[in-house]
Amino acid sequence: MALLQISEPGQSLDPHQRRVAVGIDLGTTHSLVAAVRHGVSECLPDAQGQVILPSVVRYLDPAQGNSGRQIGFDALAAQVDDPANTISSVKRLMGRTRAQVVDADKLPYTVVDDQGMAVVETTAGRKTPMEVSAEILAALRFRAEDSFDDDLYGAVITVPAYFDDAQRQATKDAAQLAGINVLRLINEPTAAAIAYGLDNGSEGIYAIYDLGGGTFDISILRLTQGVFQVMATGGDSALGGDDYDQALAAWVLAQQGVAVALSASERAALHAEARRCKEALSAVEPAGSVAFTANIAGQQLNQAVTKAQFEACTAPLTARTMAAVRKVLRDAGITKDDVKGVVMVGGSTRMPVIRSAVGAFFGQEPLTNLNPDEVVALGAAIQANALAGNSRDGDLLLLDVIPLSLGIETMGGLVERIVPRNSPIPTALAQDFTTYQDGQTALALHVVQGERDLVADCRSLARFVLRGIPPMAAGAARIRVSFTVDADGLLSVAAKEQGSGVEARVDVKPAYGLSDEQIAAMLQDSFATAQQDIAARALMEARVDADRMIVATRSALAGDADLLEPAERQTIDTLMGQLTQSLASTDAAVIEAATDALAKGTEAFAAMRMNRGIQRALAGKKLEEV
Ligand code: ADP
Ligand code: MG
Repeated sequence: MALLQISEPGQSLDPHQRRVAVGIDLGTTHSLVAAVRHGVSECLPDAQGQVILPSVVRYLDPAQGNSGRQIGFDALAAQVDDPANTISSVKRLMGRTRAQVVDADKLPYTVVDDQGMAVVETTAGRKTPMEVSAEILAALRFRAEDSFDDDLYGAVITVPAYFDDAQRQATKDAAQLAGINVLRLINEPTAAAIAYGLDNGSEGIYAIYDLGGGTFDISILRLTQGVFQVMATGGDSALGGDDYDQALAAWVLAQQGVAVALSASERAALHAEARRCKEALSAVEPAGSVAFTANIAGQQLNQAVTKAQFEACTAPLTARTMAAVRKVLRDAGITKDDVKGVVMVGGSTRMPVIRSAVGAFFGQEPLTNLNPDEVVALGAAIQANALAGNSRDGDLLLLDVIPLSLGIETMGGLVERIVPRNSPIPTALAQDFTTYQDGQTALALHVVQGERDLVADCRSLARFVLRGIPPMAAGAARIRVSFTVDADGLLSVAAKEQGSGVEARVDVKPAYGLSDEQIAAMLQDSFATAQQDIAARALMEARVDADRMIVATRSALAGDADLLEPAERQTIDTLMGQLTQSLASTDAAVIEAATDALAKGTEAFAAMRMNRGIQRALAGKKLEEV
């Protein structure tokens, strides 16, 4: 479904002109790259055939003659031996200060603040989270370029729905460092929903349950006209598969009576075994078990772990995710029965206990047929393909919406809304305006954002002036103001006088600098004051109309007063005086009544002027010229 097309009909790219566009899931634990090939979205494997790239970078000691770093599986394998220089979960540091990083001192490497930003101390010097992420992104970029044997045109990169501006900007910066053109950042739950094709399905509310390695995210999306809106997000940024590993490791240590402090590498080895054991348990039948073996503090641990034991020792974690699900439903103001479908995302949703807990809660089978590790990247690739202009006309995805209405200031400090809030982007909308005064040759345009009716209560985005309008009577000029918002949310506003073709335009970035909280506050404000705004708007409009009526009458009198009998003139003067006085009133109805009275009182005068105008126009012209 498409509301707007990007490419002109007949101008779609030939197959050989296709641009290589990929979707990248830059995950806390794993990252993946996917692309649409022959109409199917698929993850791209590395040379060894693996699609998953561990989001891990190890920096080597330059003093040892090393100039390099290891990325992915190699780095992961070295984590046990070199935890201090092996950076995992760097996503938690993106766009944060050290104090904002949850459990920063529990990380196996050292995080310090540098110029208000959390950075990592490594043997190869300080590394920003953007640099570390750029290593991962560059590895995926090269994978894509090798696989298509072509340069990468651009990528859609996914971020958690709750990422703020700083975290999103840090992600864009990382992509830039990796030489990647970011087509768009999209929310992970939205990408997962696209991968399941929910955007082509029936409208309604969907829940996306994403349990990854280190984070749990639950998002409630509403699908309307093929567009997903995030209704609410929740979860726990310090709860994920790793916690299941730790809970299992702690349980095994307790069973085995190990009570000594472990070294960093012993702990890493223990967790690696716990993870292997946990993942193996997902595949065994309900009564099965898996052997846990590790060599800790000189002691050989051998523990058979049954599925039931694993589920019991991790039950508090599963319960915590379900509590977060209940909370997010409350935040969204809905109940579980309002949810039309549930999408499972993240490697940890392979655990059967998670699937059954979620299924039981919502009273429906969650969607699990796509690989839960891949689903985010697959959806991002579909979006990237569309944004790169590769998909056929009419195939476009419209996923993002404009958070606050966009409009322009009109006379009296009122806002005329042109693009309503929640309009899907890309979008283009136009409206015609006219001049206020006779002979007006310039029009000042003020672009504003917000839901309130008065300019003073909205956010000013840009001002520009349209000059060179041919002098005409007030109201005769037709000025078309068009708002265009492209796929990146970049707004441009153009104003064109239709008769003469004179034009002016301005580009603005509407979302810039507004956090979700600010947007929420502005909306809240607009609901709370809607009634007050309606009254204020009516008053302003009445005053503008009255002013226009007075100006028009004065100008008519200046030119054609000789048409009037003294009594007629007297009546008009009285009505004008009454209207001028009524402007002091704060009751719109009083002003409107006086305006109407003047309009009625000048009807005959207006007719006489029109006759005179026609006679003047006809004078001296041959019949065929008329
Ligand atoms: P992230 O989004 O945080 O990068 P992923 O979605 O890749 O994370 O999930 C990684 C987590 O999934 C790890 O904790 C891993 O142990 C877990 N996981 C992967 N496969 C399985 C499985 N078969 N059973 C249980 N957990 C699994
Ligand atoms: Mg993930």
